[in-house]
Amino acid sequence: MNLDKVNKLQHMGLGPVWVRRHVVAAGIAASTGSGAASDQALDTGSAIGADAVAARASNDQQDTALAAMDWDVLEASIRECTRCGLCEGRKHSVPGVGDRAARWLFVGEGPGRNEDLQGEPFVGPAGKLLDNMLRALDLARGKDTYIANIVKCRPVGTDGRDRPPTPDEVDACMPYLRRQIALIQPQVIIALGKTAAVSLLGLPADTALAGLRGEPRDFNGIPLVITYHPAYLLRQPTDKAKTWRDLCLAKHIIDGA
Ligand code: SF4
Repeated sequence: MNLDKVNKLQHMGLGPVWVRRHVVAAGIAASTGSGAASDQALDTGSAIGADAVAARASNDQQDTALAAMDWDVLEASIRECTRCGLCEGRKHSVPGVGDRAARWLFVGEGPGRNEDLQGEPFVGPAGKLLDNMLRALDLARGKDTYIANIVKCRPVGTDGRDRPPTPDEVDACMPYLRRQIALIQPQVIIALGKTAAVSLLGLPADTALAGLRGEPRDFNGIPLVITYHPAYLLRQPTDKAKTWRDLCLAKHIIDGA
């Protein structure tokens, strides 16, 4: 392993991975491939009431206009959006950040508390790890990368803590991400965690992340690489090695494009 590669791995906190390979191997063998913390609690039990059905019908009517929006109108629409109930408790909606002509698009689940306060995705410890992941790829926030989320407003549980978005909230917000992807036209999309993966692939919320990793998927003709959410990696650092392999797969796609 050359020094450059060692440095890149250290940016991700992989440090002496060659020393701990047996630990990593044990982690791989034992892993069942769960996603971010919130992924584990992904709620599939949302009931759809009459108001939700009416709201969905209204949202469908808005989608045609949304699909033609430019960046400025799109971001303004996200900031003013009331398409789902997550608008009620937000401090800021979080459209995304980065290079609007990026080859790399990273997609997470949704804003957490810090993101809601600051209006930017992936701040705090998970954001710092994502920045290290970008640095390991010779990228940086805003440099050939765009970072977005499946939902643009913070999902909060009744206990005041972050929670995963419900399927209805995902359905309401996905048109914004679809428009962002159409505007960016990235060469690869990296889904960070299970919520991002199943939402982009249109799979049931209880689909296991482990079975989705390892080979490129497809999102409307764009290669989709699925990996772990940085928040999960903070709790399961042995899975950083698997994430590095996923990122190398994405880099291989970019290099061959
Ligand atoms: S989460 Fe998305 S759909 Fe819901 S209010 Fe926020 S921007 Fe609108």
